[in-house]
Amino acid sequence: MPRWQCAIDGDDSASFDRAEDLMVHQAAEHDRVECKVCGAVVPDGYFAIRHAFDEHSRAEYVRAYDASATEVRRREKIKETVEDTADIREVVDRLNE
Ligand SMILES: [Zn+2]
Ligand SMILES: [Zn+2]
Repeated sequence: MPRWQCAIDGDDSASFDRAEDLMVHQAAEHDRVECKVCGAVVPDGYFAIRHAFDEHSRAEYVRAYDASATEVRRREKIKETVEDTADIREVVDRLNE
């Protein structure tokens, strides 16, 4: 069973058995972040990544964040892994409670 590690702002003490629990933790316990492309305020972690890649093009992301191709690929990979594994609906429902 893989452990999911938070890693936001060097938070290495928080790890979870379920991706859903990690995502709730990231959205509930960490400050929201402002998107550097459009200024929208979104939960940190998966939701920030999803916002960046669903709402903006790669080129916009790279320009705004001064990100390398490796960083972009790493984030796309995280997004894919999370979407393959986690029940995003459950997370959204829990955050809305
Ligand atoms: Zn954390
Ligand atoms: Zn944005």
